[in-house]
Amino acid sequence: MGREQLAVDVLFVGAGPASLGAALHLSRLIREHNEAVDLGRKSGRSLADLTLLVIEKGKEIGSHALSGAVIDPRALDELLEGFEDQEPPYDSAVTDDALYFLTGNHAFRSPVTPPPLKNHGLYVASLGKVIRWMAELCEENGVDVYPEFPGVKLLYEGNAVSGVRIGDKGIDRKGKRKGNFESGIDVLAKVTVLGEGPRGSLLRQAESRLKLSPKSAAQIYSIGVKEIWQAAADIPAGQVYHTLGFPLGIQEFGGGFLYTRKENLIDLGVVVGLDYQNPRLDPHRLLQQFKMHPFVREMLEGGKAISYGAKAIPEGGYYSMPRLFADGLLIVGDSAGFLNGQRLKGIHLAIKSGMLAAETIFEALIQDNFSQSTLKGYAERFESSWAREELWKVRNFRQAYQKSFWSGIIHTGLQFLTRGRGVRDPFPIMAGHRRMRRLEEYPETDDEQRSRPRFDSRLTFDKLTDVYLSDTAHEEDQPCHLKILDLDICHNRCTQEYGNPCQYFCPAHVYEMVTRQNGPALQLNFSNCVHCKTCDIMDPYEIIVWTPPEGGGGPNYKNM
Ligand code: SF4
Repeated sequence: MGREQLAVDVLFVGAGPASLGAALHLSRLIREHNEAVDLGRKSGRSLADLTLLVIEKGKEIGSHALSGAVIDPRALDELLEGFEDQEPPYDSAVTDDALYFLTGNHAFRSPVTPPPLKNHGLYVASLGKVIRWMAELCEENGVDVYPEFPGVKLLYEGNAVSGVRIGDKGIDRKGKRKGNFESGIDVLAKVTVLGEGPRGSLLRQAESRLKLSPKSAAQIYSIGVKEIWQAAADIPAGQVYHTLGFPLGIQEFGGGFLYTRKENLIDLGVVVGLDYQNPRLDPHRLLQQFKMHPFVREMLEGGKAISYGAKAIPEGGYYSMPRLFADGLLIVGDSAGFLNGQRLKGIHLAIKSGMLAAETIFEALIQDNFSQSTLKGYAERFESSWAREELWKVRNFRQAYQKSFWSGIIHTGLQFLTRGRGVRDPFPIMAGHRRMRRLEEYPETDDEQRSRPRFDSRLTFDKLTDVYLSDTAHEEDQPCHLKILDLDICHNRCTQEYGNPCQYFCPAHVYEMVTRQNGPALQLNFSNCVHCKTCDIMDPYEIIVWTPPEGGGGPNYKNM
């Protein structure tokens, strides 16, 4: 099928902080270069009439953006140096921060907040708001930003990436064209920048062909599951509380968070390591249990849940990062693992990665050379940046928690004393799905059964109610975007060996085991999908492949 082609100079895939930061910084470098050439202050050719394009699969810019979020302003401050009178739309400065240990019924405030969780000087914010503001700034500076443009396939010339194919619209569930069929175009670019977020589907395509996978360690993820509440009582904005303990056990990595914003909004959620062992572990259920703890319940009493969402978080750090460049290709932000798992922060690192990518692309445009010989400058810039310094200090942090919470605490102490080295460097790590134990090794305990929340629809909600709060919608008559490579494994082996953990780890009730004439069958309620990517990461047989659905489908987060 002949496809329409659109030629641009630089293509950024995914309108997150990394891509938008990259596009904005590149627009500034080009503008300053052209002004200097025009005024005769610089020799060389002008880079006029370049096309920079950011594409985004969501319905609107920011509709798939989800984070806590507490933002370290360092990278945004650097980014805005080239733009006058711009203030990021932070919600409020952090006024109080603390770490609490939760037992079943009590909360103990740590007398000292550990340095990585100190947040004074930082800002509570909605990532969605920040993204929308960055996108507007991009457009004011000549960058094109297109929502509802899902990148479904990397295009190549030889082994050099030459652009991205956009998904078709108007294909029915059987794969036939409908009346509203629109063929997705091929966007051709000199450089393609992947900023798709964690577990990017285009990056997964490129990994084996271009040998981008990290040499030392597998990427390891957590899932963050979050609600936003409108509190009934007045609460001061800028409080940042993290919790350890309940409802997680000592075998699991993770904790809870509560951040307060203006207009009495509370962002609350749990972060759960996607390297847990219990095949019935359900992150959404843990969030409901978290809200039932007296410490949290008191803040929510009389209030109302107004939004819900979930997202994977890449936590492996420095050793889990892929090769950041290839011919015609750069990888930025969460896609490349720019996240400090110890501080639970990645937005500043994502923006910085985008800026370093922009400086490299600018050099490639000047040299008119988009091969890896120029683009490897991105990795070199990263190696001499503060982002590398920050990630290097915590290079073994997350790995140390894979065994247990207490082992993690001890190793974190040793790593702190040895500037990140600890007793083993690199500390070994295993891909999270390989740690899941079989049902027979992990029988359900009475405690587990007793602790299942009964959803009261006031404080606690079932998954479908929460999906409703995420404002998720997909065109129903389209091919399912979750590709199950072998359904037989789901219906037989997985049922017996793991009890179909997809029913539990999916926070949106997409995977449902139903009984049919021939026995158990997997039903895919794909239109519930909030695009968190957990199934692609945590399925023990690695037979679930998440692919982008028709453009505009997915959650419609407002201020996540
Ligand atoms: Fe997340 Fe997969 Fe469920 Fe979608 S189907 S919400 S990506 S776990």
